[in-house]
Amino acid sequence: MLEKQTKLITKDYDKIKPHLIESYLNLGGYEILKKIVQEEKDPNELLEKIKQAGLRGRGGAGFPTGNKIEFAKKFAKEKNQTPYLVVNADESQPGTFKDRYIIDHNPHSLIEGAMIEAYILRAKKVYIYINPNYLEQYKILENTIKTAEDRGFIGKNIFGSRTDIKIYLRLGAGGYIFGEETTLIGSLEGRRGEPRLRPPFPVSHGYLDHPTVVNNVETVVNITIILNLGPEEYRKFGTKNSPGTKLYSVSGSVQAPGVYEAPLGISIRELVHEISGGMKKGKVLDFVQVGRMGGFYKGKTLDFKISYDCTGKNDVNVGLGDVLVVDKASDFEELLISWSTFFKRESCGQCTPCREGTYHLYKIAERIQENKLTAKDYDNLKRLIEVLEKTTICPFGCFVANMWKGVIDLKGKNYFLKNKKN
Ligand code: SF4
Repeated sequence: MLEKQTKLITKDYDKIKPHLIESYLNLGGYEILKKIVQEEKDPNELLEKIKQAGLRGRGGAGFPTGNKIEFAKKFAKEKNQTPYLVVNADESQPGTFKDRYIIDHNPHSLIEGAMIEAYILRAKKVYIYINPNYLEQYKILENTIKTAEDRGFIGKNIFGSRTDIKIYLRLGAGGYIFGEETTLIGSLEGRRGEPRLRPPFPVSHGYLDHPTVVNNVETVVNITIILNLGPEEYRKFGTKNSPGTKLYSVSGSVQAPGVYEAPLGISIRELVHEISGGMKKGKVLDFVQVGRMGGFYKGKTLDFKISYDCTGKNDVNVGLGDVLVVDKASDFEELLISWSTFFKRESCGQCTPCREGTYHLYKIAERIQENKLTAKDYDNLKRLIEVLEKTTICPFGCFVANMWKGVIDLKGKNYFLKNKKN
């Protein structure tokens, strides 16, 4: 199983000691950054390589990273402001633990990627915003940044060049919604955890109203890989519209739950039955959930391909790459309660349909578990889904609606009618 992975990001994880910078340097670490700043490479040429590679943001939305950087550079020029780079290490979606995996195994790859991206963006300051539950990873990054600073790889005149870039580490406020980029930026500014309507987008009006690129940890480490391999070589992995590999967080009833690296475009079946070792002994697969806010797959749909290409009917949106494998003996109603509790707890409360809707959806889940569904529940469920899809400020409402739509598809209408009391 492990050997079936395709490793670009995790290639040297068995050779690297995260607390020893030498182990990263011995494998060519910081060489690309050094070359770029010492030879004063043209940032626009580097940006062109990121665009040619077709890198898409690994934080869920899959927006082309090169375009995001390009927009922020354009707005920075127009507004005559210095742009910022913010690395999103908030990772607060349940079942997602791949950014933590990167920080645990190769924190210098994140720092090098962030420094290169900041150079391309012409940013002077980088903020890494990390989940407050990741205290161990906070300490790892704190030490990593300090070590790199002591060596002159971060800060003023890095590698003796004319480039100055500082990296600041910020502990997040705690809560799912802080991973949403406008909330994250607001939190960095000291504001409460509420998303704001877009546009304007952070690329024009971000941190302190300056153009800001917010990128996920996994996106940032891909920057160095692309410049190392070159765009053509990078594009040999993945699909035409979703190039590269992806880290998948696999949990549930598989033999070996964990983080696996595989190309985008892999099928759910390959990921579960080959790479993750298949089902645990004695367990029979019921369904696979891809993306905690995504759909449910079983039978033939396990052959669907996971990527950011959401155009075909056989495509599965990779989201953050979290994959939950559920066996037939699992208590589905208990899972439903767990998901609904999460949604109810994590709604920031700013818009009524989400604040009240997640509460009422939780009550429906409770009535399913207690065999107390009423005749109105199915109609109310459909209405709530529609309202959540159409009227909320941030995508969280859509995520909740998608999950419940998936439950209806998985279980069928009768599931919601079978226990009705009146
Ligand atoms: Fe907050 Fe929910 Fe509205 Fe998003 S959809 S802004 S989480 S209340």
